[in-house]
Amino acid sequence: MSCGGHHDTPCGEVLDAVSAYLDGEMTEHERERISTHVEECSPCLREVGIYQEVKLLVARSCGCDHVPEEVRSRVLGRIRAVSVQWRTDSLDPSES
Ligand SMILES: [Zn+2]
Ligand SMILES: [Zn+2]
Repeated sequence: MSCGGHHDTPCGEVLDAVSAYLDGEMTEHERERISTHVEECSPCLREVGIYQEVKLLVARSCGCDHVPEEVRSRVLGRIRAVSVQWRTDSLDPSES
């Protein structure tokens, strides 16, 4: 899973770190790497955007920053579904 471009940080690493990135659970150096990557990689930027949106929705609906494990896994599953669908679309634009 990649946009086909070369990056110092592989897309897979960035996607694995999206959650920690948005939660602020990483060092300044790591954040730098992720933000540099998403600036030059639109697939990852989009993925971060989706994640951020869902995170905001969850935070709003439960009124706190702590996301219950059940909700969290549901949301993560949904993000995966969305991004897989999007990747499929972008890989094969002639479909549908
Ligand atoms: Zn990427
Ligand atoms: Zn890329």
